Amino acid sequence: MSADPLVRARGLTKSFRPRGGLFRPRGPAFNAVDRVDLDVMASEIVGLVGESGSGKSTLGRILIRLIEPDEGTVHFGGTDLLALQGEELRRNRRDFQIVFQDPYGSLNPRMKIGDAIGEPLTIHRLVDGRAQRDERVAELLDRVGLDPAMATRYPHEFSGGQRQRVGIARAIACGPRFIVADEPVSALDAPVQAQIVNLLVDLQEQLGLSYLFIAHDLQLVRRICQRVVVMYFGRVVEEASAGELYREPRHPYTRALLAATPSIVPGRPAAPALSGEPPSQTAAPEGCPFHPRCPEAIDDCRRRDPALIRIGEGHRVACHVVEKTLE
Ligand code: SF4
Repeated sequence: MSADPLVRARGLTKSFRPRGGLFRPRGPAFNAVDRVDLDVMASEIVGLVGESGSGKSTLGRILIRLIEPDEGTVHFGGTDLLALQGEELRRNRRDFQIVFQDPYGSLNPRMKIGDAIGEPLTIHRLVDGRAQRDERVAELLDRVGLDPAMATRYPHEFSGGQRQRVGIARAIACGPRFIVADEPVSALDAPVQAQIVNLLVDLQEQLGLSYLFIAHDLQLVRRICQRVVVMYFGRVVEEASAGELYREPRHPYTRALLAATPSIVPGRPAAPALSGEPPSQTAAPEGCPFHPRCPEAIDDCRRRDPALIRIGEGHRVACHVVEKTLE
């Protein structure tokens, strides 16, 4: 594996202010993504896990510049992504794509799927004329396991799994190097999930792609990812190789998430199950944001925010109790 990551993000922070209502003022700003560092190597699948609202999707969208961060940097293949503008940004966009959880929502219901898949080819001027575009669309449909004759149909004529295949065909159309897969199978039935995951893994191998694979199914992440990043309340709280994270999770939140899927490591002592809800985004607790739910919290946890520290090769954890074991 090359020493230089394909994607290198440093200090990413993004805050939002909740919308107000007719009689309700706008709420205070909160950090959806808070000082996050993340690397994705070439041809690597990195899993990004955490509960809903932990900032996973926002982070994924920042990495491909669908959302602008307030602070931080993103380098893609050494290029400062956030400095790109206009034509230069448009040209670079073909290198990074997204597969959405709900492909139906991202497909124009009035556009034939052949046109939806062919659109980025035209935008990036990768085909010369209609015939060449149709030929390339047929290849892409075949590559994702759909009959090329389906190019003339509309999204509503497809099943959920078929629509996700269309979304994947659109994402790979321009030959990207990096794909953010944002919960790509969580809206699908189990047998269809397996087919879509197998397709994504096959494409990753065949095309040498890198994925940031956002999911809350930890079994799935373990099966396909080389490295796993755990987020809580907008922050990275643990990061390790998939093997190490599942063998020896250190952060109490990671252990609680894994406890909810006990079959992952047969025989591993049960960790305390996760109870309670994540803190309100607009009322962050003092100290470690996990402390109101943490069965291992000590006094320090209520006073100081733990730093993300390295505890081994490629293994980082943000937890006072883990830090104390190293002293
Ligand atoms: Fe729990 Fe404290 Fe570690 Fe936070 S810092 S995860 S509250 S033990």
